[in-house]
Amino acid sequence: MTTLGTAQAAPGEMDTGRLSVGETRDGTEVGLPVAVIDGADDGDTLYMQAASDGDELNGVGVLQRVVPQLDPAELSGTILVVGIVNYHAFQVAEHRNPIDDTKTNRAYPGDETGTSTERIAAATFGAARRADLILDLHQGSTSRMIDECRVRCGKRHRLHDACLELAKVFDCGYVLDQKGPDGQLARAAPDEGIPTIDPELGGCVGWDEQSIQAGVEGVFNVLSYYGFADGSVDTAPQTRASGFEQYGAPAGGLVSLKPDLGQRVARGDTLFEVTDPFGGVKETVTADSSGVFWRTRRLPQVATGEYVCSVGTDVDSF
Ligand SMILES: [Zn+2]
Repeated sequence: MTTLGTAQAAPGEMDTGRLSVGETRDGTEVGLPVAVIDGADDGDTLYMQAASDGDELNGVGVLQRVVPQLDPAELSGTILVVGIVNYHAFQVAEHRNPIDDTKTNRAYPGDETGTSTERIAAATFGAARRADLILDLHQGSTSRMIDECRVRCGKRHRLHDACLELAKVFDCGYVLDQKGPDGQLARAAPDEGIPTIDPELGGCVGWDEQSIQAGVEGVFNVLSYYGFADGSVDTAPQTRASGFEQYGAPAGGLVSLKPDLGQRVARGDTLFEVTDPFGGVKETVTADSSGVFWRTRRLPQVATGEYVCSVGTDVDSF
């Protein structure tokens, strides 16, 4: 019998339930939606979660499509799923938990007697650490971004190769291979010996069909490659960036972006212009380094210093 919160499944069964993480302000119990799929045959354990950031819904879209397609009678091993991690932010369609204004992905491994976010991190980490592989489904929030997988453990970590392999199998086509900030699940879990990636499935308001589809295919690649499901996976070369340069607006106005997302840029290429309301060009910003045009703001209007775009740098392939 495999249990996660109130969900319980015997081999060959699946169940859904709730993982309790405290109460809301009116005393209602907060239960994160969870699913357990216990394969008929023995095998490894995969943990997946979505909406660690409450406005990042593509991962929820992926799980919504993947879970109904899983037949526990045909699977080996166990799949543990937390469908919506950042309960409070999800309720109000925000990025951070409004109870403590914190990102979940800075709070791992969490603290079960800590803040609201630390308690949610501790509860989900408790499930994640039972796994042999972890997929933490994110997106570039509501900004526009390419589909990519993040490897956050750092290049000197003993699990670096294993995390890169997982990213290659997930096959978004792009990988950001850069040590992440403290508190990320994709850093805390490798420290426990569990290969982990953070697939970043585009960036949008609501759902983006293309990125959800990339995520669904990525999950099924992982299930086949690591022996949870039948089938084989032909891995493809991934474009890897090891650096990430962010550009802000040197003046206020309206931004006109020049490259398309995913386009290669060379040092000195124009990334964007800042224009006035009558079309006059106030500033032109060029790339400091060559790389891949990776992420941009969604709205054109900017104040001086406001975020405009990012370029993935130090690019190679593996
Ligand atoms: Zn995120």
